[in-house]
Amino acid sequence: QSVIHLETIIKTYYMGSNSLTVLKGLSLDIFRNEYVALMGPSGSGKSTLMNMIGCLDTPTSGTYILNGHDVSKMTDDDLADVRNKEIGFVFQQFNLLPRLTAAENVALPLVYAGVNRKDRTERAMIALEKVGLSSRSHHKPNEMSGGQIQRVAIARALVNNPSILLADEPTGNLDSKTSVEVMEIFSQIQAAGNTVVLVTHEEDIAAYAKRVVRLRDGVIESDNVKEPTNAHA
Ligand code: ADP
Ligand code: ADP
Repeated sequence: QSVIHLETIIKTYYMGSNSLTVLKGLSLDIFRNEYVALMGPSGSGKSTLMNMIGCLDTPTSGTYILNGHDVSKMTDDDLADVRNKEIGFVFQQFNLLPRLTAAENVALPLVYAGVNRKDRTERAMIALEKVGLSSRSHHKPNEMSGGQIQRVAIARALVNNPSILLADEPTGNLDSKTSVEVMEIFSQIQAAGNTVVLVTHEEDIAAYAKRVVRLRDGVIESDNVKEPTNAHA
């Protein structure tokens, strides 16, 4: 079944008397446990689409059903609820708090969700295990490598058990060796049953995904599902 169902999505930005239509009738279905790379030239609408998928923004017209919820016409408050339940975000900038340990950073979304301290710690440790960093739980960001920091950010995105993990250029600030380390974590997360959607402009990063969707000028230019093999096995 579709986790993400986008149907004839139009997104127009209005700026005073000017307007810019960025998504031009885009339709896309992403199914449970898929691993999708979103590619396309700068300005083609990738971030706009990711923001919409991530419930940070709503379409101007068209329908978006996320895991059974029609989010296309939700109020900002309802959208925030759905986002907290369904979406895990990983950014190019890691956005960890420097004074908190890895475990505390990972547990942060649970503080906002009102989870008690004992459960927070337990769930943070489970999330850190998923990214292979149990042994680093008490380290602060400045005691970790760039790759480890991004893995902590991935654990933080997973701690709410979201139905989708979204990543916008997650290796954009990492060298190629560290990028490989991070991409292998995404592959493991997908293998464990999660749905992963990431934006990248690097072909060798996209090669880890099982499906490559290319945008051009606000519509899907191509959509290729690969054989379910690990390209880097
Ligand atoms: P990509 O991620 O593929 O580079 P974006 O979705 O970021 O594309 O941007 C597509 C177009 O929309 C660009 O021309 C950009 O300047 C414009 N744009 C993006 N966000 C906004 C906004 N909030 N207001 C106005 N224009 C925007
Ligand atoms: P490596 O190549 O060893 O994986 P990087 O070269 O990416 O690590 O990072 C070098 C150092 O910079 C790391 O030890 C880390 O402490 C620090 N660092 C990198 N990115 C960040 C960040 N976003 N926030 C805080 N420290 C960072």
